[in-house]
This record gives sequence, structure tokens and C-alpha cells, in this order.
Amino acid sequence: MAKPEANQIDWYSVLGGSPEDTLQELKQKYQKLVLLYHPDKQAQDLSPGDAHQHLQKFIEVDQAWKILSNEETKREYDLQLRARELKQSWPVDAQISLEDMDWDSDTQSYTYGCRCGGEFIVGKEELEEGEAIVCCDTCSLSVEIRRTT
Ligand SMILES: [Zn+2]
Repeated sequence: MAKPEANQIDWYSVLGGSPEDTLQELKQKYQKLVLLYHPDKQAQDLSPGDAHQHLQKFIEVDQAWKILSNEETKREYDLQLRARELKQSWPVDAQISLEDMDWDSDTQSYTYGCRCGGEFIVGKEELEEGEAIVCCDTCSLSVEIRRTT
């Protein structure tokens, strides 16, 4: 249940750091990685595949630093991390992927039949984060919905 979510990037580990690192420590790690992956700093003979990978990495590192170097977004992210840890200890009855759900264009939401005959309903916006925990509209079961991409 506590396995890491692919769509929940750990910004600390992107920088090779941890939540205990000081801003200065994180900055040093960031600067080292940026030099390594910056598009302008790549070797001429880098294969397109590697170049693409490095660019992705650069974007990720840059994003991680943007979040963690700003006091407000860092605090927000730290809160999210804590909430995520809490959530992982909650019981979830099943995990389903978005592809298993039926799209209802009238209500702009996804639905999934519960075994009690009720339904799990989740709005499109709720899934923008990439995942959501939804309770059945009839019984007390809950499912975690995840995007498989
Ligand atoms: Zn139910």
C-alpha cells in the first residue's frame, strides 16, 4: 500500500536531497545537477535519446528547485508530503485505474460501479492531481483512482 506513486514526484530526491537538508545544501545539489543536465552544457555527440532524457531531468530539477527554494511553496509541499504519508496509512479497499471507469459527459465525471450496487463518482477536476480517493455513494467502501500513465 505504501509504494511510491509514479505521478507523485519527490522533489527532494530529484535534487538528491531530503526534507532535512537546509536550503543551502539543496541549492548546492541543485546547482550541480543543473550543470550536468543543462541543454547548453551537453556533449556534441550525445545521442538524441540521452539528450531527451537529460532535458527531462533538467526540467525536473529546475521545477524541484523552484518549489523548494520558495518558502511558501516549500511549506505547501512539505504539508502535502505529510498528508500523503497520512493517507498512505488509511485503508483503501481497492485501487482502480482511470481507464476502468466510465466517463459521463453529462456530469463531467467518471463513475465506477461498487459491489454494493452503488457508485464511485469522481469529477474531472478532482483527478487533476493525478489520483484521488473516492468513497462509494452508498456504502463505506473507498477506492483509490490512479492514472496509469
Ligand atoms: Zn458501495
